[in-house]
Amino acid sequence: MVGGLFHFTVLNPLHPTKKPMLSFNLRSDQPSRTGISKETPQPLDEQSTEVVHEIVCRQCRYGITSQTQRIQIDNAHRHTFANPEGIVFEIGCYKKVWGCGYTGPSSAEFTWFPGYQWRIAICANCLIHLGWRFSSDEGHSFHGLITDRLSIS
Ligand SMILES: [Zn+2]
Repeated sequence: MVGGLFHFTVLNPLHPTKKPMLSFNLRSDQPSRTGISKETPQPLDEQSTEVVHEIVCRQCRYGITSQTQRIQIDNAHRHTFANPEGIVFEIGCYKKVWGCGYTGPSSAEFTWFPGYQWRIAICANCLIHLGWRFSSDEGHSFHGLITDRLSIS
């Protein structure tokens, strides 16, 4: 079909890193071909359509981490815990964090994640307490950051 050839030759240079035949076959299975022609005017690659939101310190707007670093620990990203004083924290788990400093010793006391020691994580810019870094003896680590002390930029 002429239309199929046309779409193939247009899509191919837009996806230089992908296998063109696979891309073509998947798209040609779609019932509506208008969806294909809507994409062709966009000259940029697929990454440009993916908006990555930075996660910042709510108090000073310093960049802490990003949404791409969200991970699940024990099958959930968000956890709610109380510390020994009874203060309740809702935290989100993040793999890599680049805007925190750390203070105090590592401790396994009252840890919320068995097998992990915690250390207090603070904003590296304004020093507000943002959460904790959890690390295991096996070298696995992640951050639990207090949800309401962060915002999405
Ligand atoms: Zn801050």
